[in-house]
Amino acid sequence: MSGGQSGSSRLLWLAVAGVAVLGLVCCAGFVLAVGGGAGLGGGAVTAQPAGNRLRPDAPVPPRYLAMVLAAGSLCPRIGPAQIAAQLDLESSWNPNAYTDSGQVPAKGIAQFTDATWQSWGRDYDNDGVNSPYDPGDAIVAQGHLMCDLVQWAERQLAAGRLGGHVLDLAWAAYFCGRRCILDSGGVPAAGLAHDYPQQIRARLPKYAAPAVVSGQWVLPLAPGTYTVGSGFGPRWGRLHAGVDLIASTGTPIYAAAAGVVLSAHCSSAYCNRPGFIGLDGCGWTININHGGGTATRYCHAIRVNVHAGQRVTAGQLIAWVGSTGNSSGPHLHFEVHRPNAPPSTKDNAEDPIAFLRSVGLNP
Ligand SMILES: [Zn+2]
Repeated sequence: MSGGQSGSSRLLWLAVAGVAVLGLVCCAGFVLAVGGGAGLGGGAVTAQPAGNRLRPDAPVPPRYLAMVLAAGSLCPRIGPAQIAAQLDLESSWNPNAYTDSGQVPAKGIAQFTDATWQSWGRDYDNDGVNSPYDPGDAIVAQGHLMCDLVQWAERQLAAGRLGGHVLDLAWAAYFCGRRCILDSGGVPAAGLAHDYPQQIRARLPKYAAPAVVSGQWVLPLAPGTYTVGSGFGPRWGRLHAGVDLIASTGTPIYAAAAGVVLSAHCSSAYCNRPGFIGLDGCGWTININHGGGTATRYCHAIRVNVHAGQRVTAGQLIAWVGSTGNSSGPHLHFEVHRPNAPPSTKDNAEDPIAFLRSVGLNP
């Protein structure tokens, strides 16, 4: 059921905050990847990782598909697969489900309580009916509420009031309310609210497209050595094709997965001293081909520790953080490219943070 009501919607504000720029560390530049064999990428790249998308054989009842896709497009963390797995758990796709566990009845396909429907219910499908029993309303309301719960959980995590995985916290809050999660300091240690996130995760493989990534992945900088700065997305009128991980000069940079180094070279006019905003290229640059249509890029190093053609393992030291090239301060600009990369281009870049999360890491 959904007991996760809150005050006014913050979705709009959060959508803006999500691309906030922290400082002036910079850019990918327009580095040409040194060839890598495989063909040019042509597929559409979405902001959501594969694990958020529906697999082709996902057992979503066809009449609900458009609603699930709409509800799963409202924020990066909640995709159609997450929406579908939760509906499967809540009601087994029964639009008339009614559950009275002795407390507050939960109604409809997404099991809204009356109180939560008051906050989140709306005639989203414009059919003149505003009801938790109307799947066209309930599924989209579920999407809005889940996105708000994710943002709420992120704020609580940042403030140190909660611990745990952000999605688990948001799911558990959908089940038992925000107060319940705050009182436990996280997902409750036992009971139905404890089980709820796990039950959704257990259903995800049925609905989620498998990530086309093989092998083990690690963070490119060790946990605790960096803070996440400017993220993936439009910036200064063009795409910031990676994420800026702010770290001290000399912080070790690791290969995010096993692969072959495509290039390790200075892509700017000089790399023997720090660059500046506006200098072309991203300084000392490493491109790695991980196979399976996946490549990564590391920019602005002060020095590199690998050469083109070299095989690397996941976690191998490849460079040290610097500020060479188009950069205003020491940081690692890190990019992830799929599908069918290399070569790594702006068109096949995707959000590295979402990607790292999709392979189980906590960047
Ligand atoms: Zn950058």
